[in-house]
Amino acid sequence: MTLHENCGIYGGFVRGGNISFEIYRGLFALQHRGQEAAGISVSNRGKIITRKGLGLVRDVFNEDVLNRLGGDLGIGHVRYSTAGESSTVMNAQPLMLEYLGQRVAIAHNGNIEGFSRLREEFERDGTIMLTNSDTELIFHYLVRRFKRPPGEWRPKEIAEFLFSTLKGAYSLLFLFKDKVVAIRDPRGYRPLWMYEGDGIRLFSSEDSAFPKGGKKIEMENGSYAVITPESLHYEKIADDVKRQCVFEYVYFARPDSRIFGRSVHLVREKFGQRCAIENPIDADIIVPVMDSGLSAALGFSKHTGIPLEMGLMRNRWVGRTFIKPQNRDESVANKLSAVSDVVKDKRIVLVDDSIVRGTTSKKIVSMLREAGAKEIHFRIASPPVKYECFWGVDIPIREELVASSRDIVEYTGADSVRYLSLEGMLDVLGESESFCTHCFDGRR
Ligand code: 5GP
Ligand code: MG
Repeated sequence: MTLHENCGIYGGFVRGGNISFEIYRGLFALQHRGQEAAGISVSNRGKIITRKGLGLVRDVFNEDVLNRLGGDLGIGHVRYSTAGESSTVMNAQPLMLEYLGQRVAIAHNGNIEGFSRLREEFERDGTIMLTNSDTELIFHYLVRRFKRPPGEWRPKEIAEFLFSTLKGAYSLLFLFKDKVVAIRDPRGYRPLWMYEGDGIRLFSSEDSAFPKGGKKIEMENGSYAVITPESLHYEKIADDVKRQCVFEYVYFARPDSRIFGRSVHLVREKFGQRCAIENPIDADIIVPVMDSGLSAALGFSKHTGIPLEMGLMRNRWVGRTFIKPQNRDESVANKLSAVSDVVKDKRIVLVDDSIVRGTTSKKIVSMLREAGAKEIHFRIASPPVKYECFWGVDIPIREELVASSRDIVEYTGADSVRYLSLEGMLDVLGESESFCTHCFDGRR
């Protein structure tokens, strides 16, 4: 099984520092990108050490642990929660190895294409894999390519080699004892940013995680960058058709981030507005499915003039790993509740960012019915998800996708269900050729 890994990565250099504290802060800000595991590797007086564990950033680390890590260069990772065997610390990142007496660590966001096949090729050739993660493969490739200690791998050569060898999604951070190297694949599936302030240089999946002030630059597809205690060097060296993941806008990224050159919140708002234009409806109130549907609902409301009301409340304490619910129904009930006094006898437009399995959506509709809603019109600010994702988004196999296997109105129990069209979505974004929309249209 290929593990889906759209994750969060963060790292860099802090002068006189404690980079571990800065990475902790950054990972905390990227927690929405993965709640299953967290890890930090640092270079402390020339020695690379790693601490990682299952759970949230705040569960894995505390002041004591961070103080012991110390370091002035480092990288960190938060892992997205997927099913089954991914829930072992073995697959947590950063991944660290020692080769010819030198350590190196890696943090990866994305998915390498053809992992199972490549893994088998390596295994048949005598390589033992210690994890189920495609990230480990990157090390095996590099070791075979260079056959020298990691300290002698030149960053530009690493990037050139990976660009010509690996297909798929990879935004990467490498930690060497004296530098952090960032690489963004030639198609640019996943975001990656860099930052330079006074005595501090950083990389991050999302710019909203950076400290205030300083200069932020989004790395281009096919580029690499190197942070050392003295400098930041950035270079674009390859190009390909861009394949930026449109689901970053739909769901993944924080609304206060900029991704692929645009404000995530404003894009979501426009998706909602466009969805309203395409699917006119007469109703009393608009209810956002908190939190991910809020930006789109705002756009829907601004366009139609129908007021936005808090008909669903979200429990802000869910997400703690110790209340791992047995099933999705139960988890929705823990997370959301209907506000009866707001929704009773109302014709509701229910706005969410996406429907994947449909199970959450079904539960929400029944919740609103029980609370007395008169009509429920579901409006989804993205097209129907019909295809699995090979580049990191946790989209289940086709049979589990409600849009490809069932009648959505009947299944959810809503009075109507309408989606934003793919054309509408791409029109909002402009330059439609630059995006990966495979989950919606199956186009590679
Ligand atoms: P469904 O009705 O498909 O079960 O759930 C739809 C909800 O799932 C939406 O509110 C959407 O925000 C959320 N969602 C979409 N993609 C993902 C994902 O990759 N992970 C999680 N945890 N939720 C997602
Ligand atoms: Mg949601």
